[in-house]
Amino acid sequence: MSNFNQESVLSVHHWTDNLFSFTTTRNPSFRFRSGEFTMIGLEVEHRPLLRAYSVASAHYEDRLEFFSIKVPDGPLTSRLQHLKEGDEIIVSRKATGTLVIDNLEDGRNLYLIGTGTGLAPFLSVIKDPEVYERFEKVVLLHGCRRVAELAYGEMITEKLPNDELLGELVRRQLIYYPTVTRDPFRNRGRITDLIMSGKLFADIDLPDLEPQHDRVMICGSPALVRDSRELLVGKGFVEGNHGEPAQFVVEKAFAER
Ligand SMILES: Cc1cc2nc3c(=O)[nH]c(=O)nc-3n(C[C@H](O)[C@H](O)[C@H](O)COP(=O)(O)OP(=O)(O)OC[C@H]3O[C@@H](n4cnc5c(N)ncnc54)[C@H](O)[C@@H]3O)c2cc1C
Repeated sequence: MSNFNQESVLSVHHWTDNLFSFTTTRNPSFRFRSGEFTMIGLEVEHRPLLRAYSVASAHYEDRLEFFSIKVPDGPLTSRLQHLKEGDEIIVSRKATGTLVIDNLEDGRNLYLIGTGTGLAPFLSVIKDPEVYERFEKVVLLHGCRRVAELAYGEMITEKLPNDELLGELVRRQLIYYPTVTRDPFRNRGRITDLIMSGKLFADIDLPDLEPQHDRVMICGSPALVRDSRELLVGKGFVEGNHGEPAQFVVEKAFAER
């Protein structure tokens, strides 16, 4: 049996010249945990061209959603960015990844730190009712260069709080903190700087990060992953992994060429 399913594209949304999202059908046999990634792609010259993608839809939704970069000369995304409704894509039958709450010890507040398309895995995490059962507050930090790149802001601030299933949990427990480095905006600066200076905690009215109480998931550029890991280890946090839950987990949102 093939390791892949064919799925049909149901919708495509372009956020900017560099970012887009799309939804596809979902084979009912495809299972994943919130925060995991899978391999997706296109058939190019009779061979599958595949890349890792976080699943941005919730584990209970009947369609799959992906949030993608457009790399002008990228083997996959130079093609993928032209997807339109009705096109077929290939999706692996398996999902995996470290950004799952099973890899974290119990704690008080959960911080989700994502830059760019590193937001994607957290879009499924913030739609998972179990996450709100395990943690008192869920703080979603999204860092980008430009305001236009803060994709999904409206979904998070307008749609989710009014969702039939999640609305009450989201209104009570989710804190969304978008920040940009290159445009005027209400929150400015790199996430690691906002944590180090204490500005983040003053703004959201929560205490500074503490390994005893807080749990953190990180997904972004190799530089963000490096800086955040260093910051957390410096505060005494221990990194978790499969089978070894601890206080924070990381995933690179992409590999460097
Ligand atoms: C665990 C994991 C999860 C991932 N999840 C996603 C996801 O949800 N959405 C997504 O768009 N990509 C994601 N990626 C990256 C993805 O696998 C591809 O690299 C990306 O789709 C570009 O593919 P490409 O073939 O066009 O170019 P590639 O040859 O794969 O990449 C070319 C170069 O583009 C840059 N680049 C690649 N991806 C990104 C990105 N997302 N943001 C900024 N720069 C990038 C890097 O410098 C990279 O070396 C993930 C990667 C990993 C390892």
